[in-house]
Amino acid sequence: MANIIDGKAVSAQVKEDIRIETEKLKAQGIEIGLAVVIVGNDPASQVYVRNKEKACEAVGFNSYKYALPEETTEQELLALVDKLNNDDKVDGILVQLPLPKHLDDKMIINNIRPDKDVDAFHPVNVGKIMIGDYSFLPCTPAGVMELIKSTGTQIEGKECVVIGRSNIVGKPQAMLLLHQSGTVTICHSKTKDLKAVASRADILVAAVGRAKMITADYVKQGAVVIDVGMNRDENGKLCGDVDFESVKDKAGYITPVPGGVGPMTIAMLMKNTLTAGKDHHGVK
Ligand code: NDP
Repeated sequence: MANIIDGKAVSAQVKEDIRIETEKLKAQGIEIGLAVVIVGNDPASQVYVRNKEKACEAVGFNSYKYALPEETTEQELLALVDKLNNDDKVDGILVQLPLPKHLDDKMIINNIRPDKDVDAFHPVNVGKIMIGDYSFLPCTPAGVMELIKSTGTQIEGKECVVIGRSNIVGKPQAMLLLHQSGTVTICHSKTKDLKAVASRADILVAAVGRAKMITADYVKQGAVVIDVGMNRDENGKLCGDVDFESVKDKAGYITPVPGGVGPMTIAMLMKNTLTAGKDHHGVK
């Protein structure tokens, strides 16, 4: 039976470190603020935004929520982003995605000031991640790196396979593993013989979005298996991309869903907001 990686515990430690640092900043009169913008009534987005607000409260940040109606125009949303870009109380701006169909996600993100783009989705921040010179972490992939670190596994020289090539998970994940000298392969829907490639991995990261697709025959004995997926199974229960029941007896380490990568994403968002706040106040 694999060691289960406890994402809740690792994320709690990250948030506690942030809380302590925030308290010290407050003692110097410095407050950190995160603005969260949500447009429309998507239930999943509502939950994510609520969790982000709760995390801000737990670490001692000020959070400013802007809930806009579904019919908000591009001009109105851009005007709000512009206002937040120029608001000194706001260190980080997060526009919850996906936006309603009539709004262009990319264009809105491109209008957030890069030094307030705590999701690290702005092309400037994406480029910095590519060259390995970045202050904002890509939240989910950085959370995965913390979880791998928590196992004590050295990444250098290891076979790392990332399944998924999205801009928010797969690609930046591959970059972070590469920066730590892993030998990285990125797989996607056109990959031939995914099982053969995946089962070479010492470190396997699944970010596919297909419930329980990664069964034991995709996994090398003793591998570190990180499951980014958040899906619903046939009974409507939350599950990952990895078939936990079959893989847990073969992997060396495995993340559960829920309680694995999910809590880390928000913790990393808090870390980026702290970084932004320190930068804005000239704190090293
Ligand atoms: P996307 O849909 O953007 O990307 C999925 C990737 O998986 C694509 O690159 C796609 O390939 C690949 N893929 C799809 N089917 C297969 C297949 N049969 N074999 C191999 N590769 C395949 O998803 P995201 O990256 O945004 O998210 C992935 C999962 O992670 C989702 O379940 C999402 O909910 C979850 N997630 C969880 C987060 C968390 O905080 N825990 C945060 C973000 C996402 P191709 O490019 O060829 O289409």
